[in-house]
Amino acid sequence: MVRGMTTHGGFEPVFCTIVPPHVLDQLARAEDPALSGPARRSLEHDAYQRTKRRLTTVIGAPSVAAPAGAAADQPHRTIYDAHHTQDLPGDQVRAEGSDPGSDATVNRAYAGLGATFELYLKAYGRHSIDGDGLPLDATVHFGENYDNAFWNGEQMVFGDGDGEVFLDFTIPVDVIGHELTHGVTQHTANLTYFGQSGALNESLSDVFGSLIKQYTLGQTAAEADWLVGAGLLAPSVHGTALRSMKAPGTAYDDPNLGKDPQPATMDHYVRTGSDNGGVHINSGIPNHAFYLVATAIGGRAWEKAGQIWYDVLTGGELEQEARFADFATLTVQAARQRYGAGDELQAVQKAWEQVGVRTL
Ligand SMILES: [Zn+2]
Repeated sequence: MVRGMTTHGGFEPVFCTIVPPHVLDQLARAEDPALSGPARRSLEHDAYQRTKRRLTTVIGAPSVAAPAGAAADQPHRTIYDAHHTQDLPGDQVRAEGSDPGSDATVNRAYAGLGATFELYLKAYGRHSIDGDGLPLDATVHFGENYDNAFWNGEQMVFGDGDGEVFLDFTIPVDVIGHELTHGVTQHTANLTYFGQSGALNESLSDVFGSLIKQYTLGQTAAEADWLVGAGLLAPSVHGTALRSMKAPGTAYDDPNLGKDPQPATMDHYVRTGSDNGGVHINSGIPNHAFYLVATAIGGRAWEKAGQIWYDVLTGGELEQEARFADFATLTVQAARQRYGAGDELQAVQKAWEQVGVRTL
């Protein structure tokens, strides 16, 4: 289970969907029923899942057991097909090591799980989500025109999208990396999914999701598009992606979706009760800080900038309730520890200054 302490002191499960509720809310108000229908049904599903998971947590769900023995350097992937139902996991359609089939969605999900496993292993020596070889399961073709993808604490789930606004959710590899990184966070810092710690949780998923895409494409920080979910929006939508780390707030501006609400700096920090206190909104600030660090250092972003962020995520000093300033301070310490008082340290200090987060 993905869970975190709430500000009220109780345990609450995290149910992160790649498309945040405020975007689907907007779409559900569209005049065209071809747009509002799928958005409304997707919202209903996600709300139901959140409630269900809360109940499961109270009862106490069993945790997923990792296979016995030393973790292998190979992923252990299984892809299932829900055949447009909401039954999980569905029928097994591809197992580890089997050849690609005729369904491109299945093959993309399989490749995306593999790319995520590979970045964590090759760049950071981490064996799967839990660091101990956790098998990676994914279900595709979930629901009817389901407008989302999520990690439910145990597996990945992908919708096909409505075809009008959202396309197949297996298309962007960074969406897969984003969701699986919620699993990594669950097993490490376990940041509370509310307010600033929730925005850090979201940002870490965007950061490593983007790094998985850059690693797959062999891009440097200068070559990367720094978008999250590019290729997911249908061609008629006025927008390029769900979020932009390079220029938060500019990913889309569309009559049906509304405008990307992300701030890039603390001057525009959004105080809101919705979206768990703006976890998908204010994540734009730490996202932009990472972009600034990676492009200032240059080269492959997963090597130095990614290493610094990974050190903080897994180092054991990041508190569940951490705020931006706490996280920023730890990145400064991690940069100094890894690379001494050089360009890397300067890049980290300058980036947080630029986004208006004071290091302690
Ligand atoms: Zn997320």
